[in-house]
Amino acid sequence: MDADDTPEARPEWQVRLEERWETIKPRPFRLTREVVPGVLQVRTRGSRAYLLVEDKITLVDTGNVGSGLRILESLNEIGRSADDIRRIMITHSHVDHVGGLPEIQRHVPAKTAVHLLEAPEVESEEPLPNPCQHPLVARLLERWLLRIDPGSARVDLRVEDGDSLPVLGGMRIVHAPGHTAGSISLHFPERGVLLVGDALQNRFGRLMLPSRLFSKDMETATESVHKLADLDFETLCFSHFRPIITGAGDKVRELSKALSA
Ligand SMILES: [Zn+2]
Ligand SMILES: [Zn+2]
Repeated sequence: MDADDTPEARPEWQVRLEERWETIKPRPFRLTREVVPGVLQVRTRGSRAYLLVEDKITLVDTGNVGSGLRILESLNEIGRSADDIRRIMITHSHVDHVGGLPEIQRHVPAKTAVHLLEAPEVESEEPLPNPCQHPLVARLLERWLLRIDPGSARVDLRVEDGDSLPVLGGMRIVHAPGHTAGSISLHFPERGVLLVGDALQNRFGRLMLPSRLFSKDMETATESVHKLADLDFETLCFSHFRPIITGAGDKVRELSKALSA
């Protein structure tokens, strides 16, 4: 037998790949799902986060408290590590998007970016504001919200409308307020992709405005839909619903037109 055929002679990358194959889970149990190349959705607690994967990785949102471990597991699923995350983008400061942020920041040497209107809430030692707009329901949720409050997290970069970062050929920050005052969408013109966070819902296959119960200002949210309708994209990713892979720009324009009627 030739010496090169012994297991010891296999290159390290091949051994690692084979070991990973042994531990890889069947598809329904995986945390990650590719939407389009480079854009992966991750099942976190309470919402969906996204991994924008290239040489380095950008994480979008962090789920509820306790999602940190899931996000680290999702990196393992795709053969990457915590050190690969270069930045964390937060679409808005609701607990199901920033809940996992402090725990992730303990494991990941990445810079965190938040819209300048919501950075103070993320950094504050005070609990996050109650997002519920119905006074009675807000009162009922209060104790639970205090229990799952993540505490303060670090913000390294305050972003605003029109800012651009070098992610997937260029990522533009689109301020899309209404759901919250500092909600942002992330637009990738080179890829034809838009990540809207909670600025839109795709309930039962129908595109619609964000939830009235959890949105600060529906009039502003409607104006934001008109703004998003002006962007050029094919694929639309949400934080709580299945993505629309093709034809999404036309659907947002239809919604915008219906809202103007
Ligand atoms: Zn929200
Ligand atoms: Zn949400």
